[in-house]
Amino acid sequence: MMQLAFVPAIGACARPMANTIRIPISAVVGALLALATLPAAAADCGGNPSALGTARTLAVDPAVTPAVGRKHFPVTLPLKPKEVVLTFDDGPWPGTTDAVLKALRAECVKASFFMLGRNAVAHPALARKVLAEGHTVAHHTYSHPLLSHMSLPRAEAEIDRGFAAVDQAVYGSGSRVPRTPFFRFPGFASNAALVDLLARRRIAVFGADLWASDWNPMSPQHQRTLVLQRLIHAGGGIVLFHDTHAQTAKMLPDFLRDLKRLDYRVVHIVPASHVASHESAGR
Ligand SMILES: [Zn+2]
Repeated sequence: MMQLAFVPAIGACARPMANTIRIPISAVVGALLALATLPAAAADCGGNPSALGTARTLAVDPAVTPAVGRKHFPVTLPLKPKEVVLTFDDGPWPGTTDAVLKALRAECVKASFFMLGRNAVAHPALARKVLAEGHTVAHHTYSHPLLSHMSLPRAEAEIDRGFAAVDQAVYGSGSRVPRTPFFRFPGFASNAALVDLLARRRIAVFGADLWASDWNPMSPQHQRTLVLQRLIHAGGGIVLFHDTHAQTAKMLPDFLRDLKRLDYRVVHIVPASHVASHESAGR
């Protein structure tokens, strides 16, 4: 049973009430509500009691962590050992994105998809399906140019075109202010001026802590072994995949079972602004 007052165990009976730590009932109710809204645990995963599940949701505030991922930046997200953030770039793409979504659904795992504007425009139903299945829809420019080679105004225009196109496809309206302020540079081709510009606009830049190298053709089994070795070496972190590659889609069911077997835990990243607005809407 949940207790409303916790008394120190040693000499508790002799202590005056002033030493009793009192927990407001509102806090207890809040904790119970929080438990009720926890992400889908493995136990709830539609007939798959051994599912990996999503361990927790992490609200990312661009003002606190403007650029994360140790492959390119000095810091990463505040993850515990063996926590993993799954990210997929370059989609949505028919066939492969569907297969990735199916694998994630089977294990009740939530991920983040850094979409290209041109692909969201070409496949809006698939882009909406990613959101409808509870994943985070993030951004990766309109047409995947290497922005570090462009003038600052042209690079910003390309980023903004991507924001607007993805949000238009997914939500029915879009602008240069993205619904989810998460961005990843194509080819990790950033520069200090662009990173600063995005920080000023309160858009979090995601690098990665490790990647699957799935732009290189290889068998799904080789892909699975490679990324697993890198994950074990890194001890967790932000993992970069591409949902446009069949080899990634094919190895994902086995890879998710590997995570479960090896006691890794999946963390779903969401914008802090969304969490704050939902909390205020619930008041
Ligand atoms: Zn890309």
